[in-house]
Amino acid sequence: MSERVVLSFHEKFRQYDLGEGHPFRGDRFVDAMKFFRERGLLNLPNLMVIEPRPASKIDLLRVHDEDYVDLIFRLASENRSYDIETPVSNQILEAVLLIIGGVLECGRAVYSGEAGRGISLGGGFHHAGRNYGGGFCLFNDVAILIECLRVNGAKKFLVLDYDVHAGNGTSDIYYCDPSVLFISIHQDPRTIYPGTGFTWQIGEGEGKGYNVNIPLPPGTGDESYLYAVKEIFIPLAEEFKPEIIIANGGSDAHFADKLGDLSLTARGFFKLSSLIRETADKVCAGKLVMLIGSGYNPEVLPICWHALVAGAIGLQSFDLKEPYTPPIEPPFIRRKVQGVVEELRSLLKENWRCFK
Ligand SMILES: [Zn+2]
Repeated sequence: MSERVVLSFHEKFRQYDLGEGHPFRGDRFVDAMKFFRERGLLNLPNLMVIEPRPASKIDLLRVHDEDYVDLIFRLASENRSYDIETPVSNQILEAVLLIIGGVLECGRAVYSGEAGRGISLGGGFHHAGRNYGGGFCLFNDVAILIECLRVNGAKKFLVLDYDVHAGNGTSDIYYCDPSVLFISIHQDPRTIYPGTGFTWQIGEGEGKGYNVNIPLPPGTGDESYLYAVKEIFIPLAEEFKPEIIIANGGSDAHFADKLGDLSLTARGFFKLSSLIRETADKVCAGKLVMLIGSGYNPEVLPICWHALVAGAIGLQSFDLKEPYTPPIEPPFIRRKVQGVVEELRSLLKENWRCFK
């Protein structure tokens, strides 16, 4: 297994800036890189920063309908919005294509064995489906990566979507497809966008059992969150045996995030990322691509992203201080999370030996 880590970043990622007053600002990428640099993370001898080339229209068309792709390109040239919270411009489009290009470059390096892990800053546009966008997302880079790897011979993929919002777009695209085990751990959809991602949504037809939602109550902290990951993600990964794990998210499950109500700490993100890496080591020779893009509190975003990168690389400890004190998780939360885990085991026991 290669110990090499590639991290994709381009100054132009900054153009993925959805405007003043919008929670998604483009300075996040530059701020995170500055934070990493100041703390020596980029000096690690096995870490290489790569500057991606833009993804092509052919790459987009592996997943998206041509009419939809043409619509987004037209909206970009006319400087219009796709919906109330998803503006489009030529600058935004240029940045999106570079971010997706970075995701593809990381995936190619990891799948070919050139690198052990790929970390794409930006990416994880999981609300985009084949013919729709929304939720700040235009094109689904997770699916585009999967389809590009498929062209190169890959056959089994595991996606762990740990963003605070359910990955409805990725779920829709692979709802009937047993070659992609999609696991989304997120805040209870009755309390947050996009309003889907319930336990009973387990896939259809041949894909039944391959779409797994872990909805958590608002206020879920590190220990209960990691308990759910250990009880569901790890046994499924061990039984499914993917060729590669793709993890997407960012810092919006943090307790101080402005859009979500889960209560992870930066240390929790480090433990999560470490668990994902250890699982990849166990089940798919360490092949792991992390897409890190979300987070809506600029004060905690760089620390959490640092934690995610540190865990993915395999650093043994994480001791950066947070600017706020985390809340204490009320005892009823753990009981609710245990209930979700029990329900999932029961719903999925027909499909998975580990839950029988
Ligand atoms: Zn999110």
